[in-house]
Amino acid sequence: MKHIILGISAWIFTLSCGFSQSATQPASTTLPRIAIAGLGIESSTFSPAKTTEEAFHARYGPEVFNAYPFMMPVSPLRKQAMWLPTIVGKSLPGGAVTREAYESLVNKTLDSLKKYGPYDGLYFDIHGAMSVVGLDDPEGDFLARIRKVIGYKTLVSTSMDLHGNVSWRLAQNSDLITCYRMAPHEDAMQTKERAVVNLLDRLKSGKGKPAYKAWIPVPILLPGEKTSTRIEPGKSLYKQVEPLADHREGIVDAAIWIGYAWADEPRNHAVVMVTGDDKAKVTETAEKLALDFWNVRNQFDFVAPTGTLEKSLSDAFASKKHPFFISDTGDNPTAGGAGDVTWTLTQLLARPEFKKADGPSLIYASIPDPELVKKAMAAGVGGQVDGVAGARVDSRFAPPVRLKGTVESIVKGDKDAEVEVVVKVGSVHVIVTQKRKPYHKEIDFTRLGLKPREADIVVVKIGYLEPELYAMQQGWIMALTPGGVNQDLARLPFKRIKRPIFPFDKDMATPNLSAQMVPLSGEK
Ligand SMILES: [Zn+2]
Repeated sequence: MKHIILGISAWIFTLSCGFSQSATQPASTTLPRIAIAGLGIESSTFSPAKTTEEAFHARYGPEVFNAYPFMMPVSPLRKQAMWLPTIVGKSLPGGAVTREAYESLVNKTLDSLKKYGPYDGLYFDIHGAMSVVGLDDPEGDFLARIRKVIGYKTLVSTSMDLHGNVSWRLAQNSDLITCYRMAPHEDAMQTKERAVVNLLDRLKSGKGKPAYKAWIPVPILLPGEKTSTRIEPGKSLYKQVEPLADHREGIVDAAIWIGYAWADEPRNHAVVMVTGDDKAKVTETAEKLALDFWNVRNQFDFVAPTGTLEKSLSDAFASKKHPFFISDTGDNPTAGGAGDVTWTLTQLLARPEFKKADGPSLIYASIPDPELVKKAMAAGVGGQVDGVAGARVDSRFAPPVRLKGTVESIVKGDKDAEVEVVVKVGSVHVIVTQKRKPYHKEIDFTRLGLKPREADIVVVKIGYLEPELYAMQQGWIMALTPGGVNQDLARLPFKRIKRPIFPFDKDMATPNLSAQMVPLSGEK
């Protein structure tokens, strides 16, 4: 902890003493003082996995700037405020965060905030779907605790993932709030920048807090795999947001949250929020978006064909074009699965088609197992390895899977996986990692010596394919496999979400979708 504080002090010192020599530093003490803080993760309460503090790869003090290309020293935004970054941490999705990890990161943030206040603004950079063991609505809790330190004069601009959840408490303590408008999230950085630009604008113009914040809970809970903005109805629904929100007199921002489907809390449902100074426009805009969302609820469907693993394989074998991609969706680590469910890999290795080395080539990404990685490293490239892998965290669906084959490659240094090995079992190239890692890009494969474009079948623990994989696929199916992020929500044991909700209660009456005005931060 001590070195962190020293780091920040050193940086403040540079700011106050060095601005005249550097065009990249703020040149006036009248610039607004803006803190930056936030934690981002989506964590499933249906997974036995737990997330600890290291998973957040927390950045401290000036390191925080590196998380934002628009905050680089040469960037115009950087010069418009005295930035006081505290801690920003972002974890891969996973299981619920331990209470200890959460408290540690929150308390470090609060300590840092206490040290460098007062603040004109705070940029609160969160995902919004964090689950913490034994604590509801962690982001709402986090911001309420931040408010106790910074008070209510500070303008808070919150930016989120559209798969986050917006509790009333989070809405009240945020003055500006927004989320992504694209899934996959190609506009993530643009959204964060918009949140910062809007904050600066409100501070510099003296307009301060927007006068109105409309919040509408929409009783819909759908998986991200059904709500891509690349296809209808998500595409048209989200396309309206920008023209309704940006550069429109009286409106500051508008956003639609799909919410997070794999946590069982009352706050998990869709939400629409609009902020601005024109009460009628704020209300109308929010109600229009909420009603439009409700009206298309029956049209949401999976973005790709879906089926059992059995059906997925028969489609893959029948396909004339390759590579044929199969999403192993139930244990998708980027949605919050443990990542070490062995069910699918066990089924694949049992298939006669893949028993021989010259069978159809299949790449399997991936299964974490530090012990098997160790064995593979001891055997070396070209050596034989025999051991079990996976199911250390989530063994509910299948026990550890036996991998007996040749070590094809060993690569060290990945930030998430740390060490990755490829073991060839029959005609299957199995990627085994020391720690969990998502495989989203072509280079994630090629750096291991694998050639996904030349493979017959590529099976990835993922939901919808990320852009590079999508561009590569010549056929794709989402296998509805078991795991902590089972896509078949009806199979999950929800107990605490608010009912009725679509699609769990299909025939529910039309809900009240009128705008609820959230009191300004600090008001009752
Ligand atoms: Zn998301």
